[in-house]
Amino acid sequence: MNSISLQRSFGRSKEKYRRIETNMKYWNYQITFAEIPDEITLCINITNCPIHCVDCHSKHLWKDIGEELTTQTLTRLIKPGISCVCFMGGDNDYDELRELVEFIRKEYTDLKVALYSGRDSVQQLLELSGPWLNSLDYIKVGPYKKEYGGLDHHTTNQRLYEISKFSSLSLASIVVKGVRYRVTGNDITYKLQK
Ligand code: SF4
Repeated sequence: MNSISLQRSFGRSKEKYRRIETNMKYWNYQITFAEIPDEITLCINITNCPIHCVDCHSKHLWKDIGEELTTQTLTRLIKPGISCVCFMGGDNDYDELRELVEFIRKEYTDLKVALYSGRDSVQQLLELSGPWLNSLDYIKVGPYKKEYGGLDHHTTNQRLYEISKFSSLSLASIVVKGVRYRVTGNDITYKLQK
């Protein structure tokens, strides 16, 4: 993590946040109904993707390009009318991603937060990122494999989960300093399929 990314002063208003300097960058964004069911989602395409899926359809996102994704950027991109912010990527630095998720959680309490990860499973993602993953509302996992298709294909290897502590479906768990953290949720991939 960038050493100056911790220069933050939490307060009640956005103005009390000092800018978080990060290495995370984004290429572009769009507001869409297509990625998260039943949500109007601001999707932010993050660069420096370390996954390198063989069949990647957006190989420019592998590069270290784009504008820095900071809390100030988020404040500028988040518009009235959206119900969810989705980080499309962010697997290159989970500490910085966590800081941005926490910012949204504190400053935009009515918004849901989603992560489209290229990792193989929620278990792998949890082991790499840490317990904060539980604070997300939606998690998509699975690299893109052309032969199986994307989330809208019935044959897809990818899964989209709605995270819920009330779900009986266990997605992942880890033990940190003697405390077990679980991620539970419902598989809602079918909602994206015709
Ligand atoms: S997760 Fe896979 S498909 Fe998505 S940008 Fe990275 S390499 Fe490409």
